[in-house]
Amino acid sequence: MPFDIQSVRQDTPGCHSILHFNNAGASLMPQPVLDATIGYLQLEAQIGGYEVAEQMRDQLEHTYDAIATLIGCSREEVAIIENATRAWDMAFYSIPFSPGDRILTSMAEYASNYIAFLQVAQKTGTVVEVIPNDQYGQISIEQLRQAIDERVKLIAITHIPTGGGLVNPAAEVGKAAREANIPYLLDACQSVGQMPIDVEKIGCDMLSATGRKYLRAPRGTGFLYVRQSLLEQLDPPFLDLRAAEWVARDRYIVRPDARRFENWETNYAGKIGLGVAVDYALQQGLDTTWRRIKNLAYTLRTRLSPLPGVIVHDRGVIQCGIVTFSVEGQDPAEIKRQLAEHAINVSVTERSSTRLDLEARGLTTLVRASVHYFNTEEEIEHFCTTLETIIL
Ligand SMILES: *Cc1c(COP(=O)(O)O)cnc(C)c1O
Repeated sequence: MPFDIQSVRQDTPGCHSILHFNNAGASLMPQPVLDATIGYLQLEAQIGGYEVAEQMRDQLEHTYDAIATLIGCSREEVAIIENATRAWDMAFYSIPFSPGDRILTSMAEYASNYIAFLQVAQKTGTVVEVIPNDQYGQISIEQLRQAIDERVKLIAITHIPTGGGLVNPAAEVGKAAREANIPYLLDACQSVGQMPIDVEKIGCDMLSATGRKYLRAPRGTGFLYVRQSLLEQLDPPFLDLRAAEWVARDRYIVRPDARRFENWETNYAGKIGLGVAVDYALQQGLDTTWRRIKNLAYTLRTRLSPLPGVIVHDRGVIQCGIVTFSVEGQDPAEIKRQLAEHAINVSVTERSSTRLDLEARGLTTLVRASVHYFNTEEEIEHFCTTLETIIL
């Protein structure tokens, strides 16, 4: 089925009243996601939360199948967790680190992940090492390979950083990790839903993602993938009666599947919405939408660059839908505020959310305009002419 921009815009109630270039923050939900989520909540109110969960069991279970299809794994390898950070944490904090162990990461690492590295380093004497970028601003595969030795306990990188167009070469990192037999944790928060993701092709052992960004699911949803062969080696940092079973007075058994990383109470309506959002993404075709996102972002960068004082900051060989720029002598927060007055949504990337990268480039704050497949060339034109009036 060819991509139908009119129909995806008709499905997106938000895009009629707002120009939304904040898809890396939280995208706009399509109508089917909204309907399924609200419909589920209404049923909870009408017949009871436990009762509707029983009645909608298949639909709730379907969310695992949809995610498995999306990233090319089995449903037993999927845990549904309230956000990408907690999903990542559940994997990361399961790994038993010892003094002298090494964690290898990238310059693009997300703040929450890096804070966790620092905490574990302080507690256990593990060493965190940042692999430098290559000339294109991506993690250097050559330097990564050189850094690998038998003390490396984990390779953990961010696929697409929160603050830029970069797409890290995740599959090449996977190849290096596999060859050395080192567990590989990928923060795919900005890439899942934006580009095709196949955990086999990438070669990652653990992957975290969120619902609200490029997947267009409700807020407070996310998931974790853990490879089957690693599952039973990972002892989750928290357990409850969903993750484990209390089988005798002094004994419990942890579930064998990835749901060992879940907990019992959760947002069921959100889980339904997440499944419908994944179905919706699959229906559009990730190859098709990824191509469109890259084209739109390219158009936006090309249109922005010649504007007076504007500097586009994105790096990488492949550049995604996240466009970052600054305007000489102007405060990104003020630009965002003025765009909002024209019903245009962007966000501001602060140094503290991706410190290694922005510090190295001498940047503090940037305007982040992130496009999705439902955006249009006309919106880009309108965005740039509006921006011009603001910055003049
Ligand atoms: C947004 C983001 C996260 C955190 O996702 P949450 O769902 O807010 O926990 C992690 N990594 C990257 C790269 C992000 O952009």
